[in-house]
Amino acid sequence: MNSLVTTKEMFERAYREHFAVGAFNFNHMELIQAIVGAAAETRSPVILQASSFTAKYSDLGYFVAIAEYAAEKAKVPVALHLDHGEDLETVKKFISAGFTSVMIDGSHLPYDENIAVTKEVCDYSHERGVVVEGELGTISGIEDSIGSEIGLYTDPEQAADFVARTGVDSLAVAIGTSHGAYKFKPGQDPKLRLDLLDRIESLLPGLPIVLHGASSVDQRDVEIINTYGGKIDSAIGIPPEMLREAAKKAVCKVNVDTDLRLAMTGAVREVLCKEPGVIDTRKYIGAGRERVKERIIDKMEKILLSAGRY
Ligand SMILES: [Zn+2]
Repeated sequence: MNSLVTTKEMFERAYREHFAVGAFNFNHMELIQAIVGAAAETRSPVILQASSFTAKYSDLGYFVAIAEYAAEKAKVPVALHLDHGEDLETVKKFISAGFTSVMIDGSHLPYDENIAVTKEVCDYSHERGVVVEGELGTISGIEDSIGSEIGLYTDPEQAADFVARTGVDSLAVAIGTSHGAYKFKPGQDPKLRLDLLDRIESLLPGLPIVLHGASSVDQRDVEIINTYGGKIDSAIGIPPEMLREAAKKAVCKVNVDTDLRLAMTGAVREVLCKEPGVIDTRKYIGAGRERVKERIIDKMEKILLSAGRY
C-alpha cells in the first residue's frame, strides 16, 4: 500500500491557483483522523507532519500505517512530512519509515553549515524520490524545544543563493510568524512582512514558500480552556486575514500545531468538567477529535483557500 504522495504536485497547484496547503502536526491517531477527515470533507490536499518528538512518543511504524490507511480512504492528496529534521540521521530514519517529505532545519547554524547539511539531505532524499524543505532566517518562539528567542527576518538575496546552492524543493522563511501559543506580547501588533515575501518571490519565481508558527490562536478555544479550569494567558496568534493574503502569494504550505492543541485541550476539558462522572475515554477524546476537525475545516475554507481543489 502506498497511498501517500510527495508535496510536488500539490505545491505546483497551490502556487498556480493561489491557495496554500495546510500542514498539521499530529501525535496520535485521533489527530490524524481529524486532519485527514477535514481534508476529505473539504476536498483539500493536506500534509500530515511529525517531528522527532512524535517519534519519541510512539514508534513511527504505527503512524505511517495509520496515515497510509487514512490517505487511501480520503481520496485527496496526503503527504507525510518530517517537521524540523535535525540532521541526516533523523532524515534517514523518517524516510525509511515511509515519510514522503522531509524538512532539514539548519537555520540555527552558520550560513555555510546550513548550506552543507541541507545539500547533503537534498542529495540523499532526491535519490529516493523524497522532497526537501529547508529553512533560512530565525522563526522565533518555542515549539516543543524547537526554536529560538530571537527573531531574524530572512534576507531575500541570501534566500536566492541558498536555494541555488542546496536544491531545496521549498523554503521556510522568517517574515514575522512565531512558534507556540505566546507569539506576541500584549499590545504588540502581529505583523507579516508581505513586502519581504514579494521580494523573495520575485527572486525565486515558482519556489513554494513555507510559513512556520502560523497558528491564529483561536480566542474561542482559549476561552473554553479558561472556562473549564485551564489557564492560558493573553495568547495572540497570526491574524487570519494576513495568512490568507500570504496563501494567495508564494506561500504554499502553512504549518499549524498550536491551534490543534488548543482545540483538543478545550474540548476534552469541557466534557470532563461538564460530565465529571465520565470514564469512557471515547467521550472526551472523541469530542477533542471532532473539535479539531471543525477548526481545520474552518481554516481550509477561510484561510488556506484549499477547499474544493480536488
Ligand atoms: Zn516550525
